[in-house]
Amino acid sequence: MSVTPATARDQDWLAAARERVSVFAQYDRSFQERAAVVVVGSGPCGAVAAFELARAGHDVILVEEGPPFTVRDFQLDGNLSMTRTMREGGLRFTRGTAMPTMQAIALGGGSLVNSAICVRPPDSVFTRWATNFELERTDRESLDPHFDAISEFLGVAPTPLEVQGRRNLLFRDGCDAMGIASEPIERSVRGCRGSGECFTGCRSRAKQSMDVSYVPSALRAGARVFTSLQVQTIRHAGSRVTGISGQVVTPFSGETSHHFRIDAKAVVLAAGCTATPVLLKHSDDLANRSGQVGENLQFHPGVAIAAVYPDRVDPQFGATQGYQSLEYLDHGFKLETLWAPPPLLSIRFPGLGPELQARFSEIPYMAVFDAIVRADHSLGRVKARWRSLDPILHWRIDPRDVAILRRALHVLAKLHFAAGARKILPGVQGVSDIMTEPGEARVLDSDLVQPSGLVLGGNHVFCTTRMHGDPTRGVVDEDGRCHDFENLYIADTGIFPQCPSVNPMLTGMALARRQALVLADRL
Ligand SMILES: Cc1cc2nc3c(=O)[nH]c(=O)nc-3n(C[C@H](O)[C@H](O)[C@H](O)COP(=O)(O)OP(=O)(O)OC[C@H]3O[C@@H](n4cnc5c(N)ncnc54)[C@H](O)[C@@H]3O)c2cc1C
Ligand code: SF4
Repeated sequence: MSVTPATARDQDWLAAARERVSVFAQYDRSFQERAAVVVVGSGPCGAVAAFELARAGHDVILVEEGPPFTVRDFQLDGNLSMTRTMREGGLRFTRGTAMPTMQAIALGGGSLVNSAICVRPPDSVFTRWATNFELERTDRESLDPHFDAISEFLGVAPTPLEVQGRRNLLFRDGCDAMGIASEPIERSVRGCRGSGECFTGCRSRAKQSMDVSYVPSALRAGARVFTSLQVQTIRHAGSRVTGISGQVVTPFSGETSHHFRIDAKAVVLAAGCTATPVLLKHSDDLANRSGQVGENLQFHPGVAIAAVYPDRVDPQFGATQGYQSLEYLDHGFKLETLWAPPPLLSIRFPGLGPELQARFSEIPYMAVFDAIVRADHSLGRVKARWRSLDPILHWRIDPRDVAILRRALHVLAKLHFAAGARKILPGVQGVSDIMTEPGEARVLDSDLVQPSGLVLGGNHVFCTTRMHGDPTRGVVDEDGRCHDFENLYIADTGIFPQCPSVNPMLTGMALARRQALVLADRL
């Protein structure tokens, strides 16, 4: 693993890391460790939990299957980047309704590759959660102190005008022309240059991904971090867990070697919504008296539309996702700007060969807007494979959520035309490949748009170990503790009772912070 200091922040990280971070090259034999608490997974939820527990004076070990990445390790080529930073090389799909879904494998988890969007869900989301899932303390008022603390820690602020770039400002102009509200997206960045590279890793280290924020702070608070360790089993005896065990894993190849075991007084699972249920199932179907482990899988399926404008947009410049509109949240969708490496975006372009080439030549004139949908009628399931930690994901979109997607597509089309687009590329099979008039776009909100004709993406994943006040209907309680175990906690987006309607990272972290403070008192 090359660890090359390229910026001051990487230097900070290395200084903190020297003694307390173990990387793949250091494992030359099987080993055993002990801690007060072991946290599995260094994504946003695991990182904040590890930090708060270490800050409270506990002996914490944070275990991560992926390697650390420094600036020199980032690959601007989107495909190459995905093969290194994502599980299954970024080619993980749901079965049923086929939809790609990306989960990172890296120190920092999803925060390494995400757009740093930090949004608090509106009251209505928590009201639904409280009413339907018998929760008493999971409302905005209770969570706001956690949102505040995390936002301050990560420097969450609205994206400034200087780094918006034309692509994002066209979205603002389109919203203004349609008379709908919009605002600069709040993101966890410090010194963003608007390079539009969040997906392949922030080379200026402006994005406050966990590997440059909460993980180094956890280290400074005394935590130890072990990377390239794949947790395979949660060890348990009676109603208590006793630790974890697994194997060293070679970065990027997934080859396993030496064994390890970590004994702990408490275990916090933050391996992510698709990995945690598999870990539980591989550990004698642990914490599953309710039968809900791996059930209730939900996504925010996303659709996007690219449009060509008369003048150059140079969409590669500007914050990756800098503007949003919450205008349609109550109708089930949120509007955003989007940028990603062109080969990824081109999945929605029509044509092959010369026709596709012609589309690529128009990219300098393009902007892409997307909508994420609250698809809480569409439920799926995470199943464990035999002798593999890669999940099988079954998910099928419900007709009621298809109706929301259609409406969202139509609004995206109108937004582009309102912003002055010359033509739009809806990227939907069964309707025209290219539309030049707002009237033509009406078809997007019709039965001609079928789920099989949509190019969906689902990177927000929820509910597979859901929180529920009733132990027979959920896996964890409001403090993230498994109903069936005294000292087993889950702290990832799997504990959401329902999808949150907005980008989930900040909510996951707020819940993780709350439970870490509770656990710190109990240890
Ligand atoms: C491309 C992309 C863009 C996104 N943009 C945004 C955004 O801008 N804002 C937002 O709010 N959300 C965004 N999201 C979603 C957000 O990143 C996730 O919701 C968030 O990362 C979930 O955090 P988590 O801690 O639950 O899990 P993860 O971030 O998935 O972290 C889980 C960690 O556990 C590790 N792990 C898994 N299994 C094991 C094991 N067996 N042993 C050891 N370690 C293990 C994984 O390697 C991973 O590092 C985006 C997601 C993607 C993929
Ligand atoms: S837009 Fe560029 S500089 Fe800003 S956070 Fe993303 S990758 Fe970093």
